[in-house]
Parts: sequence; C-alpha cells; structure tokens
Amino acid sequence: MGGTDMTPRDRLGRPMGSLRLSVTDRCNLRCGYCMPESEYVWLPKSSILSYEEFDRLAGIFQSLGADRIRLTGGEPLLRHDLEALVRMLAARPGVRDLALTTNGLLLAPRAAALRAAGLRRVTISLDTLRPERMLAFARSSRHADVLAGIAAAQAAGFEAVKLNAVVLRGYNDDEVADLLAFGRERGLEVRFIEYMDVGGATRWSGDTVVSQAEMLATIAGRFGPVTPVPGRGAAPAEQFQLEDGTRFGVIASTTRPFCRDCDRSRVTADGTWFLCLYAREGVDLRAALRDGRPDQEVAALIAAAWAARDDRGAEVRLALPDRGALVALEGLRADPRQEMHTRGG
Ligand code: SAM
Repeated sequence: MGGTDMTPRDRLGRPMGSLRLSVTDRCNLRCGYCMPESEYVWLPKSSILSYEEFDRLAGIFQSLGADRIRLTGGEPLLRHDLEALVRMLAARPGVRDLALTTNGLLLAPRAAALRAAGLRRVTISLDTLRPERMLAFARSSRHADVLAGIAAAQAAGFEAVKLNAVVLRGYNDDEVADLLAFGRERGLEVRFIEYMDVGGATRWSGDTVVSQAEMLATIAGRFGPVTPVPGRGAAPAEQFQLEDGTRFGVIASTTRPFCRDCDRSRVTADGTWFLCLYAREGVDLRAALRDGRPDQEVAALIAAAWAARDDRGAEVRLALPDRGALVALEGLRADPRQEMHTRGG
C-alpha cells in the first residue's frame, strides 16, 4: 500500500492512494452490465466540474497522499479536449501516475495527443472479439474503432496499455481464452473482471457471474498451468502467469473482494466524492469548492471524511445470503450518482 506519514489513515488503517476522477457521466456505449436501460437521468450540466476544479481537487487530494490519478467516466473521451485536463494534472510534480480508462471508440485519433499531454497509461475495455456481439450487447457497431484505438495506443508509446474484459455468463464467457490470446499476440496485459452488482447493473444475478476460479480453469485448459504472481499490494487485479511468461490479471471483486487493501476513492463529474464503489452516500466537494473555501479547509474536510472511512462494500455484499442488484431502477432514476457510469469503474 502507498501512503506517507502525512497521509490520513481510515479506520481500517488504509491510506489514501488512488483517486479516480469520473469526468463525465455520458457514454457512447450501452453495455448490458452497466447501462442496460433505454433512458437515463443525467447529472445537470451546471453541476459538472470544470477542468480547473478537477485540477484543484487533484492537488488537494495529492497533498493528502492520493498521488495516483485515473480518469474515467462515463466515457472520458466524450469530454471536450480531455488533453487539456491531462496537461494540467501531468504538470503536478507530486502526481506519480496518470492513467485513463476508456472504451476506445474515440481513442485512435487522440492517442498520440494524450500521450504528448502527459498521460502515462491507458486501459481499454474490450469484452468481445466479435463485432456482432458488441452490437447486440453494447449497442454499438464500432468494434473496429476499438481495435484501431488499441493499436494507436500501442503506437503512441504509453508506459502501459492494458485491456479490461468484464466476463458475463451467456455473453462472452466462451471468449476468455481468445481474449487472452489476443492480448498475448500483441504484448498487452489482459485483465478479466468479475461481473459486479454495482449501481446500474440492474440485471445482475449470481448465476451470471463467472468466478475467478472458473476463468483460471478455462485458461489452464487452453494454455496449460497458471501460476499466481505474488506482490499485488493495493492493486485491484491479482496477477497470474502462463508457462511462456504471459501475464494477465483477474479482478475478483465479487467472489474474492480486496476491501482490506483498498486505497481508492472516486469523484463524480459533479464533484461528489465516494469512498467506496458500493457507498450509498458521497461527500459534496463541489459545494466546498464553489463556496470559495481555501484549499486547507477543503483538505481538512476530505481528511476528516477519510479518517472516518470504514467501508468494505464488496465484502459486505459477499456476506449477503440473497444477493441481487445493489440499487433498483427507481433508486437510479432518483439519484444518477448511484450509477456505475457516473462513479467510474
Ligand atoms: N467508459 C470507460 C470504459 O468503458 O472503460 C470507463 C468507464 S467504465 C464504467 C469502467 C470499467 O467499469 C469498464 O472496464 C467496465 O467494463 C467496468 N464495469 C462497468 N460495469 C461493471 C459491472 N457491473 N461489473 C464489473 N465491471 C463493470
């Protein structure tokens, strides 16, 4: 785990490490595990933080130990001139890592500019190698654009390019080995994600989750022995290795939660700070910023909330006897901040 002596610890002794900035709640995909409905309630435009506000918040968080930043959404590349925000954040000397999670649709023409602006790492979501599946599941015919985005990211010279694949029974569970082969051929680390019962996943049920254990068995069936790679730290993915040295990750948030090491928190596009992906309430930082409070006061507010943090959302969910969707549709309509596409993954 990261953190310095200046870093506030939460009630479970966890420092602040990784900050995720969800720069927009809008998305150009409608993935069935995240945005399955036909209509959505969006955050009001006037509430969306400017890049200056995000940058100021990043500086305050960084002073408290959160020195790794990931831009997410919604689809972050839908936000106009994201390169400008990247440039601002990259110019902060204390920012140790600056990464982007994207669905890749708009990445190809912008990868080089994002790299030049100071973005270090990119993670691209790729759940299927079959365009017709993407069309049916995510309602987009732009599979080729995602592949072009991946190639452009590789050519742009980022420190790392990774692929994320959420595995869902009945959708892409028969593509686990193919996705790994795709990554292996291109020298890309693939990270398989268990389907999570987060806000927005209104069709979640235990039967549709493909567990880490099942994924590993499938991979071993195709590629031979799989060995765990130790030294995960606060990273969400457990690392594994094939006999030829190919590495891949599994984010087993559903069947093997890692709350005890979680140093992540998230700011939504309207400046609501969530201390756990599963938290029902967030802290309104937009009001603090727009009330004209000095940085030290905002920092004190953040430090106090972190010190009181005792969330272990994924572990609590695991212990439930009959687990279903986290938030019912009416709850999502009443408060779009409960949505995964608002909080960022
Ligand atoms: N639009 C960007 C993208 O597609 O990567 C960034 C935002 S998206 C919410 C971030 C990540 O969350 C993606 O990798 C997505 O697959 C994942 N995600 C969304 N809903 C999920 C769910 N119910 N379970 C597991 N992962 C989920």
